[in-house]
Amino acid sequence: MSLQDKQTFIKSILPVVKGMSQRTPDDKILATENDKQSHTKLRELSRLPTNKDCADCQSKVTGWASLPHGVFICINCAQIHRHIGVHISQVKAFNTGTYIWYPDEISCMELMGNLRANELYVNDKSIEKPSADADFYQREKYIRDKYEYLKSINMNMPKKIEKPVENKPKIEKDLINFW
Ligand SMILES: [Zn+2]
Repeated sequence: MSLQDKQTFIKSILPVVKGMSQRTPDDKILATENDKQSHTKLRELSRLPTNKDCADCQSKVTGWASLPHGVFICINCAQIHRHIGVHISQVKAFNTGTYIWYPDEISCMELMGNLRANELYVNDKSIEKPSADADFYQREKYIRDKYEYLKSINMNMPKKIEKPVENKPKIEKDLINFW
């Protein structure tokens, strides 16, 4: 299968995220007004068991996100995404308040998330994520193979993603703490 066919397939699965040039001044005003809720929501999502580790290495610390893949990543992986370029990945911090987040971007993070994105991008389960202290080149190879060259995508993913992955409720733990 050609890279172009793979790109078309991936595009049919990923939630739609507008490009920067498609944002109107009104979109920006609205997103700025909702900034606090947006960041709260993103932090909540990032703390879910399925999102709390970096999607692209074994780091336990995130803080950055990549669109339109909808993954939570660490700062070192975010640098690689940025280095590869915005035609492949747009990176934004979600816990500093530096970036304005738009509703379609937040929805993409909710619908994709690390578990689902890794199901989509890494079909070969023998591929291991680089270690948390991997060097630039190890990290770059993994990230380019995954998102740019689409080397191991899962062609059996359902065509349209409409619901977030279910995370187990914390009820049991809360009950234990309560008792
Ligand atoms: Zn990482």
